[in-house]
Amino acid sequence: APADRFPSPSAHTRALQALDSAHFLHPFTDHQALAAKGARVITRAEGIYVWDSEGHRILDGMSGLWCVNAGYGRRELAEAAYRQMLELPFYNAFFQTTTEPAVRLAQRLTALAPPVNGRRFSHVFFTSSGSEANDTNVRLVRRYWDLMGQPQRKVIISRWNAYHGSTVAAASLGGMAGMHAQGDLPIPGIVHIEQPYYWQHRRSDETPAAFGLRAARWLEEKILEVGPERVAAFIAEPVQGAGGVIIPPETYWPEVQRIVDKYGILLISDEVICAFGRLGHWFAYERFGTQPDLVTFAKAVTSGYIPLGGVLVNERVARVLIEGGEFTHGYTYSGHPVACAVALANLDLMAREHLPERVRHDTGPYLAQRFAELTDHPLVGVAETCGFVAGLILVRDKATLAPFPEEWAVGMTCRAHCFDTGVVMRAVGDRMIIAPPLVMTRADIDDMIALIRRALDATWADLRQQGKT
Ligand code: PMP
Repeated sequence: APADRFPSPSAHTRALQALDSAHFLHPFTDHQALAAKGARVITRAEGIYVWDSEGHRILDGMSGLWCVNAGYGRRELAEAAYRQMLELPFYNAFFQTTTEPAVRLAQRLTALAPPVNGRRFSHVFFTSSGSEANDTNVRLVRRYWDLMGQPQRKVIISRWNAYHGSTVAAASLGGMAGMHAQGDLPIPGIVHIEQPYYWQHRRSDETPAAFGLRAARWLEEKILEVGPERVAAFIAEPVQGAGGVIIPPETYWPEVQRIVDKYGILLISDEVICAFGRLGHWFAYERFGTQPDLVTFAKAVTSGYIPLGGVLVNERVARVLIEGGEFTHGYTYSGHPVACAVALANLDLMAREHLPERVRHDTGPYLAQRFAELTDHPLVGVAETCGFVAGLILVRDKATLAPFPEEWAVGMTCRAHCFDTGVVMRAVGDRMIIAPPLVMTRADIDDMIALIRRALDATWADLRQQGKT
């Protein structure tokens, strides 16, 4: 029982929790609620498991925060950082200087990314995070259109419920109403269309394929409303992550591609979550057959062992930027040698262990099969998987998929039971989502599914006890 699993915390844990509340402002956190409960202190990790300060082992179904694709405890990544720190811990790339890890990683990433429309991804702009990379995109596409003699092309179209980061520009690109409400966002020149979420927007009797086309055409409608000559770019996650693992119908992306091509608009594929094997390919645009001009990456490029992000730039855009003279943009840590050295070691490791291929051909299909079995549970209305991301919807009525009242916070209850049971799942409303480490075996997947099922049972038992079923 949960009560036995979590006896009152040790004095050491309580001391850390008190200091945490006193001094640490956490990302996206209600601090009063956290202080009342005390943060869980995570102390170490190995493989697909993390341990807290009370000694509990928890299967990490979220790969940290969608990033630890290679799993925990990979010594070669730590050793790459250590060696590079001793050799050259830092040097900048501003003043006509460079470093070998940054050069090698730029070359490596451009070689890894398949060409689109016969055009290579020739260059990389490095940042330390996905947010900074998307800020870079805003400035980069506007600079591109200025250089192309079309300075009126400033508007970037994004989608509601997208997540593109937390800086002012990235939060504006994102479509999170709660973020826009704090800080007067979005900034001018960013507009949003609805997300391609079948379970939210479908019409009665509409197939996913028909819905996918209709959802893509919201982009065309917005382009025509703004004026095609004013639209600079469309940015989107191949599969929305933080929004709740929203997997678009297969018809969506080809139609989006047709539309951006028709109006000559740049396509930015935000692959901060979806790249590096997450969807069974090195890059997610391979999975959906899209032809982006810019690809945002971060997170799993280093499996999260050290911060690194960036933008892969197609040669069509890169040539214009380069011929245009100085692009007045850059970060102290653009091309940080230690981060780049860790990324190189991580890409070596992922290639040697064939992690994208494993997800594509073996463990991904197996996860999809085992995850789909959860629909036999009385709480689960829908279970969807794409590569190594998956989401299930908790519903009040399985036949009609009628939701629970929002204020019951059933997803949060389920998330708490997951922790107590020993598996990390995230709740986005009543959508329960996972993005497990790509190193999982079939046996690990079985263990994870069993834990999820126990957490669902515990949630169901709560609801029954409260007379809510
Ligand atoms: N884009 C996407 C698709 C993301 O999921 C995230 C982070 N979850 C970001 C951008 C922002 O990345 P970061 O938190 O590294 O700034």
